[in-house]
Amino acid sequence: MTKVLVIASHNQGKIREIHDLCAPMGYHIASAADYHVKEPIEDGTTFMENALIKARHCAQYSQQLSLSDDSGFCVAALNNDPGLYSARWAGKNKNFDMAIDMVIEKWQYTHQINNDNNRDCHFICALALVDPVTQQEYVFEGRVDGQLTMPKRGDKGFGYDALFTPNGYTQTFAEMEPNDKHAISHRAKAFDQLKSFLQSFI
Ligand code: IMP
Repeated sequence: MTKVLVIASHNQGKIREIHDLCAPMGYHIASAADYHVKEPIEDGTTFMENALIKARHCAQYSQQLSLSDDSGFCVAALNNDPGLYSARWAGKNKNFDMAIDMVIEKWQYTHQINNDNNRDCHFICALALVDPVTQQEYVFEGRVDGQLTMPKRGDKGFGYDALFTPNGYTQTFAEMEPNDKHAISHRAKAFDQLKSFLQSFI
């Protein structure tokens, strides 16, 4: 019998991406909306806590194996901001030009005040899988480290990609071909772990 996997998200882009990754393993992919599951309040203090809040909530209301993800961009010199608030810094209109300008302004301010030239930054992707039958919870995390690149460069990608040059590379995520970014990204690392797990789980 085909196993159902519910994606605890209302973001169509995310659901499609996870569908493409997990469907070949024989899962029937559904969305939280298919089970009339509303969005919970994400009040965790880490990416993993937020991913677990969403997956637990979805598993409880759908009674199906549920998967959620949470991700963000962290800048060391800004105490890892925007971090959990990565999406919120772009405001309701999802204005990432504005969010990128805020990162640069805040970094320049701390640079002037503290004479701190630290450009370390990273992306994180946390995945949580919850089985409502066994109550088992499984978590996977991918991280990619890099350097804050100012001024921003590139027009591919999304979010904070134009600010981020992964360590060992010269192009920002927004200058790379999508497949090259996907080969090394935080999301790819987390999903590689999930895929290996699901293959044995089925
Ligand atoms: P969420 O996981 O959908 O809540 O998204 C978190 C936010 O983190 C996104 O809106 C982006 O701003 C940022 N983010 C996560 N992954 C990436 C990435 O691969 N590139 C650029 N920004 C990202």
